[in-house]
Amino acid sequence: MDFLSPVLSGRVEKRMDGGNVTGADKNSLEKIDIGDLNFEEMQSFVLDMGQKAFRGRQLYQWIHGHLACSFEEMTNLPKDFRQELAQRAMIAGAKVAARQVSKDGTSKFLFELSDGNFVESVLMKYKHGNSVCISTQVGCRMGCRFCASTVGGLVRNLRASEMLAQVYGIQRISGERISNVILMGIGEPLDNYDNVVKFVRMVSDEYGLNISQRNLTISTCGLTEKIRELAKEDLAITLAISLHAPNDALRQEMMPVAVKYPLAGIMDACRYYIEKAGRRVTFEYSMVQGKNDSLEEAEELCRLVQGMNCHVNLIPLNPVEGRMGQRSGRGQIEGFRAVLEKNHVTVTVRRELGRDIDAACGQLRQQYSDF
Ligand code: SAH
Repeated sequence: MDFLSPVLSGRVEKRMDGGNVTGADKNSLEKIDIGDLNFEEMQSFVLDMGQKAFRGRQLYQWIHGHLACSFEEMTNLPKDFRQELAQRAMIAGAKVAARQVSKDGTSKFLFELSDGNFVESVLMKYKHGNSVCISTQVGCRMGCRFCASTVGGLVRNLRASEMLAQVYGIQRISGERISNVILMGIGEPLDNYDNVVKFVRMVSDEYGLNISQRNLTISTCGLTEKIRELAKEDLAITLAISLHAPNDALRQEMMPVAVKYPLAGIMDACRYYIEKAGRRVTFEYSMVQGKNDSLEEAEELCRLVQGMNCHVNLIPLNPVEGRMGQRSGRGQIEGFRAVLEKNHVTVTVRRELGRDIDAACGQLRQQYSDF
């Protein structure tokens, strides 16, 4: 980690109060974060400034299509309009504070937000395209016992612009088109519902990056009422549920949130999602040695998901210091997988990318914080 320290030059602090802002930041806080306006909001914003509506489209395309970081580069906008914009608005974005590159080509980015908070994102390169895993909150309040992101609790929600800034930053730095986005970084996406839905619509907007909604995945620990709400949004995105256990008793030991949301309700909400959205659901199952990886538990999992249009993704646990559990052995994972296959449940074992760079959620940010 040493090579990263100079980049951050000792500025890392825990900022539960939103951070101490510097003079420059204070000014910027009074300005509107223009990257957070969706297409319609951008139209109203420029009309309010006495401009024609097409200027709104141009501005939107600069920020979300060409990934502009400043108003100066928007050369087809009149100069006085650009100057006025610079006075009234800012492109808050996110700065890359650190980057780790794995031997397998996976990169992990630590982004610094405009208030000094940090989040993480990961770029994974596959044959079928480039996938980015982004954070949706600074911290998390779900408390899953094996996860690094939740240590220190929730600091705040990210705005849509701050989720977009992670994708834009990585596309700019890597110089390669991002074709898939997964909301599996720090935070619980459905605990920041409105901003996440706004992000989904903006990142798939034809005037923005225009990423197909089919290539977007939201992962949730199972906030039942929010899954039902999402089903009604008319979005073609993939829903992933962090299951991790085939029964409530075991799930409650691993995920405190399971006390409030029993499996029966989650499975009903998933069936509703499958019916409304016409999409299959993914169930994530992190394999913890001796905890949830027995062949009996595999059988129980088959009974739970039987008849559903779904796919099970087995994730070998990424052990986090001070958190629950060790990873299941190869043989145990293969045995578990075989039981699912025998029962005709579609199953994959997640390819392990970036193990050498702490790619599990929240681990990089954790190293830069004092919790
Ligand atoms: N809050 C969302 C996104 C979390 S991260 C959710 O709960 O789905 C994405 C996935 O990684 C989740 O399934 C999460 O439970 C899992 N995960 C978190 N820490 C992990 C670890 N150390 N090893 C393996 N999987 C982990």
